[in-house]
Amino acid sequence: MSLTKKILLGMFLGIVVGVALNPFPEVFEGINNYILYPLGKIFVNLIKMLVVPIVVVSLILGTAGISDPKKLGRIGFKTIAFFLITTTIALVLAIGIASVIQPGAGDFKLDGATFEGREAPPVIDTLINIIPANPFGAMVEGKMLQIIAFSIFIGFGMARLGEKVNLVLRFVEQLNEVLMYLVQAIMKFAPYGAFALIATAIGSQGIDAISAMGKYMFVVVLVLFIHLVFTYGSAVSLLGKFNPVKFIKGFYPAMIVAFSTSSSSATLPVSMKTAQNNLKVPKSISGFVQPLGATINMDGTAIMQGVATIFIAQVYGVELGLSALLTVVLTATLASIGTAGVPGVGLIMLSMVLTSVGLPVEAIALVLGVDRILDMTRTAVNITGDAACAVIISKSEKA
Ligand code: ASP
Repeated sequence: MSLTKKILLGMFLGIVVGVALNPFPEVFEGINNYILYPLGKIFVNLIKMLVVPIVVVSLILGTAGISDPKKLGRIGFKTIAFFLITTTIALVLAIGIASVIQPGAGDFKLDGATFEGREAPPVIDTLINIIPANPFGAMVEGKMLQIIAFSIFIGFGMARLGEKVNLVLRFVEQLNEVLMYLVQAIMKFAPYGAFALIATAIGSQGIDAISAMGKYMFVVVLVLFIHLVFTYGSAVSLLGKFNPVKFIKGFYPAMIVAFSTSSSSATLPVSMKTAQNNLKVPKSISGFVQPLGATINMDGTAIMQGVATIFIAQVYGVELGLSALLTVVLTATLASIGTAGVPGVGLIMLSMVLTSVGLPVEAIALVLGVDRILDMTRTAVNITGDAACAVIISKSEKA
């Protein structure tokens, strides 16, 4: 059986075990504490262990491989443009479809639901602090944007110095090989990891909450699906001249890992390897586009934020006019840029979007109960957007 099939089987068994244990919280807790949780945690830590080194090494190689500074600027510009345009499309779809289906029409109990409104970090601060005063500090704390900036600087320096720093280049190249080998080795453990992560997620979910929020979840998943199939499908085939079916088929092993871990950042080693091997994206482009995308490009998160905002407005009976809707598009784009690629942060950043249009932050409590499962689905879409971008940039650079 291929590894991907094994992972799918693991996921399926995880769902079965999760659903079976859900009605028995005490049994679930025992099994979860001693078997499921440790197994899932070990898997996530194993891949997370590689994230910072892989981002550094791939971005250094990616940038060093683009010796012409003009080309670097051009790729950077195209990448950011693709990210912004697709996120805007995602939000327009989310707002449009949620306004038509109206998941928030009907009776929702507002009392009793609480959410402590944690302050969303201001996006402007994140942007100002992109250049790390202490790159090692950034690596220790896992500050992705800072790590990205530092690695691009080092790669740029290496590209400029060329032959003179051949030894450094060879060293980084070989380090990259070691890391990629480890990704492959760790992925053998993925079927067990996926099984445990999904059983934990489903076993601990309130099934009642899911049925009450069925319509909201349906709209989020529907928009995610439409964005995946139509937006990425047409972008990949029209701009990347790549068969969209082959694209999804080639990339879905990484999507499954994103689904199980709910973390773009933890999935990064796997998504890069999958794009390089199955979609034939050159290392220099994958190493540049995907770490950046896993940090700032989150269409799936933007979709959840768009649908949730419209849902909450409907529940509270608030009409959002055109300018309010434009504000939602703008702030949700910024919020998704500011969302870290780890589980659940998209929901915290939602407070920024709600505040921008005068909706109460406590309303997040309404969607909190079902967010764990939606987080899985949106993370899979988040990383697919980065891979689609990598395929398109490769084509446009004739790489
Ligand atoms: N879990 C998402 C990711 O890592 C972020 C979020 O929407 O919470 O991509």
